[in-house]
Amino acid sequence: MDERDDSGASPPGGAATALKITHHPRHYRENLYVYPVLSRRARGISIGINLNPDKICNFDCVYCQVDRTAPPAVREVDEGRLRDELAALLRDARSGALYDRPEFGQVPPALREVRDITFSGDGEPPSYPNFAGVVRDVLAIKQREGFPDLKVVLLTNATLIDRAQVREAMALMDQDHGEFWLKLDAGTEAYYRTVDRTTIPLRKVLANILEAARLRPVVLQSLFMRIRGAGPPAEEIDAYCGRVRDILDGGGRISLIQVYTVARRPAETWVEPLADAEVEAIARTIRSRAEVPVETFYSGRIG
Ligand code: SF4
Repeated sequence: MDERDDSGASPPGGAATALKITHHPRHYRENLYVYPVLSRRARGISIGINLNPDKICNFDCVYCQVDRTAPPAVREVDEGRLRDELAALLRDARSGALYDRPEFGQVPPALREVRDITFSGDGEPPSYPNFAGVVRDVLAIKQREGFPDLKVVLLTNATLIDRAQVREAMALMDQDHGEFWLKLDAGTEAYYRTVDRTTIPLRKVLANILEAARLRPVVLQSLFMRIRGAGPPAEEIDAYCGRVRDILDGGGRISLIQVYTVARRPAETWVEPLADAEVEAIARTIRSRAEVPVETFYSGRIG
């Protein structure tokens, strides 16, 4: 579910767009759960927290970038170690030691800032049984380490966010710079099942998105791609716009829609990125149907 480190962000301008990012290190020191990435989208350093080191997910997206052919290094979350890793990384960022590392030595001064902590990683973060407890710990650590205003983002496919403990976690985040990026890759049940490959019905995802969006503005993350040579049909984009309208008409608030395409090696070889112009065309259609800001992210290099 880690779609932050988009190597092909389209240019709203600024230093980040000129930056050449040649690799996306997911390993920092000997960390198992907490890792920094240089994110063009965030215009700086984004700290990821992986609560699914076992790589298990309730979706099986055709474009997923998680390498499930390699066995996981660990399967369990050691919360004490996770807390230590996060605190140490925030201290490294503050002291500048982070930029002494070879992977981050080339980061320009303008981007040497931690922009967010994001629950993402190799699966669906809210599936972690003590998700609320970890959220509470993360919020406390960022305060303690001198980052009180740091944004905390949850990347999720929205399937589990109606669980009581996930609602509780989201309410905690609401009180402390929380942001919710919810996946919506389709407008029809058939296309959703083709892309996200799950038995959980689309209506459940839509109901959960609506519930979350009624409580606070949310970001929708929507990935479109070429599947066996074919981009999303026009009727699918039309149906997708209808779902966005349903959320807005139902009283949901959407602060931003991120339209993006495959930027790194996908799970299936028959999945390919859309051309930049195709991404823009989808964004234009959405803008014409919904009064919501739409941001686009291109493919760039797949690697
Ligand atoms: S939701 Fe999809 S993209 Fe995200 S980890 Fe699961 S299978 Fe991969």
